[in-house]
Amino acid sequence: MTDADVIIVGAGPTGLMSAAELRLAGVRPLVLERKARRRDVPKAGGLGGQILELLRYRGLLERFAAACTEPMPAPRFPFGGVHLDLTQLADPPMHALPLPQQLLERLLEERAGELGVDLRRGHEVVGASQDDTAVTLDVRGPDGPYQVTARYVVGCDGARSRVRELAGIAFPGTVYPEVNRLAQVPLPDEVTVLGNGDLDVPGFGAIRAGFTRTESGLLGVGSSPDSRVVSFYTAEDESTEYDDDVPMTVPELQDSLRRVVGVDLRVGEALRLSRFTFKARQAERYRDGRILLAGDAAHLFPATGIALNAGMLDAVNLAWKLAAEVRGWAPSGLLATYQEERHPAGARTMLHTRAQVALRRGHDAAAEALREVFQELLTDEQPLRRMGAMVAGSDIRYPMPGSHHHPLAGAFAPDLTLHTGQGMTGVAELMHPARPVLLDLADRADLREVAAEWRDRVDVHTAKTDQRPADVLLIRPDAHVAWAAGPDEPADTAAPALREALSTWFGAP
Ligand SMILES: Cc1cc2nc3c(=O)[nH]c(=O)nc-3n(C[C@H](O)[C@H](O)[C@H](O)COP(=O)(O)OP(=O)(O)OC[C@H]3O[C@@H](n4cnc5c(N)ncnc54)[C@H](O)[C@@H]3O)c2cc1C
Repeated sequence: MTDADVIIVGAGPTGLMSAAELRLAGVRPLVLERKARRRDVPKAGGLGGQILELLRYRGLLERFAAACTEPMPAPRFPFGGVHLDLTQLADPPMHALPLPQQLLERLLEERAGELGVDLRRGHEVVGASQDDTAVTLDVRGPDGPYQVTARYVVGCDGARSRVRELAGIAFPGTVYPEVNRLAQVPLPDEVTVLGNGDLDVPGFGAIRAGFTRTESGLLGVGSSPDSRVVSFYTAEDESTEYDDDVPMTVPELQDSLRRVVGVDLRVGEALRLSRFTFKARQAERYRDGRILLAGDAAHLFPATGIALNAGMLDAVNLAWKLAAEVRGWAPSGLLATYQEERHPAGARTMLHTRAQVALRRGHDAAAEALREVFQELLTDEQPLRRMGAMVAGSDIRYPMPGSHHHPLAGAFAPDLTLHTGQGMTGVAELMHPARPVLLDLADRADLREVAAEWRDRVDVHTAKTDQRPADVLLIRPDAHVAWAAGPDEPADTAAPALREALSTWFGAP
């Protein structure tokens, strides 16, 4: 007997999302978090990409959107020095929610609490060992050191992951010698904001609103004549390795402004200060025996606005598979698909974030030309749509085993409008409980009968939809399509193929 089925190390967004998804799948995880209180250092300013669709499929998006302090931004994203202006598309493949990370963590913690997750703060994992049946963790808690055992451990413990180190998993990659600083600060009284947003600094002169490149870096100024609060952004080449949990300070901002534009500004107490550095690292594998990695512990990408999406989607992909192991119905090889699916997904995110480094970092005329050509390409619908989907991660199709392939197999299930005997609903609503779903769109009693053998695990729904993409969809708890039957596919091929897909993903009937 172990103390817990699954221990999650770290109560950041990835750990909290993992815990909630495990609870939905019927497992009671224990979350160990070294910090006694929730973090107060600002990190992400928002959440974007396919995770928003997933939150909608869990019935959480409205609640998360209601907590935002700012309006939904236009779907326009920085892409390494150029812009993805998705406002040109009627159905943009990517959206964002301006939900600061501290708020996101509070909401995720509330949700985990509602689902009955056991979260222990002030408990730091310092050691780990495993055998064929369990993992033993050494923990430093408020009452002293102790050991705790679990069948599985998920390291959601961030960039400097102790769990990754204890599992002996390498984290190769590159550190870019570049530091970005963001600040919102009140201006000193003597500085004037001109009508065009430029700042007039006595004894120095004008600082332009917008972006200015200098020999020492890049300065961004966001200002308005109606406000004394200004946003500053600086980017400099600097090889210091900062710890994200060590807050940035006002003197650090002042030093950076002095280096980049040579101005001495005595700004007031900051409303927001954050600093980010860029690393491109991916764990060489996401699993060592009974220890798994997710989130920043598994990958660090050299661009903004990406990491939470990738980490929280790891959590969603892994949780139901781990739950299947714990509850005893996991087919052989199910847990291995976490690595097979999420490692390539991480590599694809690495691909476009590394491309962003190349676009962003050049300062000469050739680099300017590259940015201009790239920006021009992004005025056409197809490249724009493709890049948007790549950044959002909505183009991810997991490899589906078996001979039967449908264009939707492996893709995120579309939110079809469904007409049922009880009224209208949608695929998103069927996924709220995070259970596997067999969705029959063509009254295929033959296929419903096959799925009935898995009724303890798979919910069967019958509905009609206007433009039917398939007769039947088999949808995994992470909302990806495991299998689909083409229109009017005969029972003698569809039934065995469905049986195979059900066994592959949800075990023996
Ligand atoms: C300034 C800044 C801006 C950012 N902006 C964005 C953005 O706009 N969009 C975006 O998507 N991402 C952004 N990011 C990245 C984002 O913040 C991270 O990707 C995210 O925090 C990763 O979540 P996580 O849960 O995987 O890890 P973390 O948030 O790092 O959480 C790990 C948790 O594990 C705990 N822990 C660590 N070691 C142990 C241990 N041994 N025992 C127990 N607990 C432990 C830590 O205390 C922490 O609470 C930004 C980051 C920074 C620094």
